[in-house]
Amino acid sequence: MIRRFWTGVGLAVALVASGAQAAPDVAKMTSGELTAFSRAMPKGGELHNHLSGAIFAETLLAWAVEDGLCINVKTLSVTPPCQPGEDLKPASAIRTDEVLYAAMIDSFSVRHAGFRDRSGHDQFFGAFGRFGAAGARREGDMLANVVDNLARQNTFYLEAMVTPQGVASRVKGAQVGWKGGDLAAQKAANTAVGLEALVAVAMAETDVMEARARSLMRCGAPDAMPGCQVTVRYLVQTSRAAPPEQTFAQLQLGVALIAADKRWVGLQMVAPEDHPLSITHYSLHMRMVDFLTDHGRTTKAALHAGELSMAYATPEELRYHIAEAVRVAGARRIGHGVDLPLETDAEGLAAEMAAKGILVEVNLSSNDAILGVSGQAHPYAWLRRRGVPVSLSTDDAGILRIDLSHEYARAADEGATYADLRTSARNAIAFSFLTGEGLWADPGAYRHPAKACARQIGKAEPKPGGCADLIAASDKAREQWRHERLLATFEAAAR
Ligand SMILES: [Zn+2]
Repeated sequence: MIRRFWTGVGLAVALVASGAQAAPDVAKMTSGELTAFSRAMPKGGELHNHLSGAIFAETLLAWAVEDGLCINVKTLSVTPPCQPGEDLKPASAIRTDEVLYAAMIDSFSVRHAGFRDRSGHDQFFGAFGRFGAAGARREGDMLANVVDNLARQNTFYLEAMVTPQGVASRVKGAQVGWKGGDLAAQKAANTAVGLEALVAVAMAETDVMEARARSLMRCGAPDAMPGCQVTVRYLVQTSRAAPPEQTFAQLQLGVALIAADKRWVGLQMVAPEDHPLSITHYSLHMRMVDFLTDHGRTTKAALHAGELSMAYATPEELRYHIAEAVRVAGARRIGHGVDLPLETDAEGLAAEMAAKGILVEVNLSSNDAILGVSGQAHPYAWLRRRGVPVSLSTDDAGILRIDLSHEYARAADEGATYADLRTSARNAIAFSFLTGEGLWADPGAYRHPAKACARQIGKAEPKPGGCADLIAASDKAREQWRHERLLATFEAAAR
């Protein structure tokens, strides 16, 4: 199939000499060629994907119809339960009302610029509230949708952001109240009211979500969908836009869940970084993560930081968010990092991140839609030149109406070479929170395989002994081995 693809897009004309081997020259491809190329390219995985924002409006609306929900025709949102009234219509109205159907898709996405006179930022963040009810009981459906779409883009690892027991943990935090900044007392008080009992509930919910996804994809059956082959891990979403005792309770539950369940691998903090509560408590939030994770040593964290521009934050705020995520919280990865060049001693911070191997999850379409930062104004190229590891991701593919391949094609359009794209794909596994030793001795550069696997990467099977043992013992090495095999096949077809 891949060989047919290569000849089909006439790739022979788009090859340049790169060392001993020809490498695809994405700069010479037509837009159509680039689209097909980025789709077929193995992209390793996706590290920044909010499950609830990943679903296209049409799918959410179909679920709303199936589940008998209502549409508020004034706010263009979905509301349960359905009691038709003045502004409420059964969601099934969209089956025949084309104008309402189109307006709902506009409402759930950023496809209609200036819709209802909103900025991209407000349209984007408001969309979650408008479609939330449609996906509330469909986590397994969302997971199946996302992983199957990834697999059909030749990509087999996902770190999905999901909020476990969000309401219940915030209620516990509210019950305890704020202890004036004594984080040890805060933690003990949460434990005293039974916060950690929610871990078992969250694990059971994860089981239900995964069972539903597997059943929808017919995993194990002869006609199983491609998504069954995707390895999934979860990041705990916690909300910044909340009173501090509630955010802290969410983080504390997340740390306990990650310790108890191998599927949950790291913390995240979400909600608009420019929300008044996010701004007020930013430094406090970083101290919370530091305290609860022992500066990232006991629990890993990937944090949204620097998803800001001067349109949404003051120069004072733009100086320190990424620096504190790295230096105070001990974050291993940064989501977005758009304002990094504006931070105090930006060059020093970038050099520190390059040295420590702190990756930036780059979301080009999201940053364009929400912040209005795109093209040469985006720091993606600046980060690459400074050796900061980067990996491309979608953020919220459904609202943005994109997919991961779209972001790879967009990156190429904006100057990334095939080598950059391949590094992004490899980074998506090397800098994932999968456990175990990696297949590469130099993650980010990929010149030197781990000693045990020297001269074996890209082969069908590892030799018995050192390399096979490494892969058997390491989730990360196993995913890397699979990805390298796909890359070797993909690239061999071009020669
Ligand atoms: Zn995000």
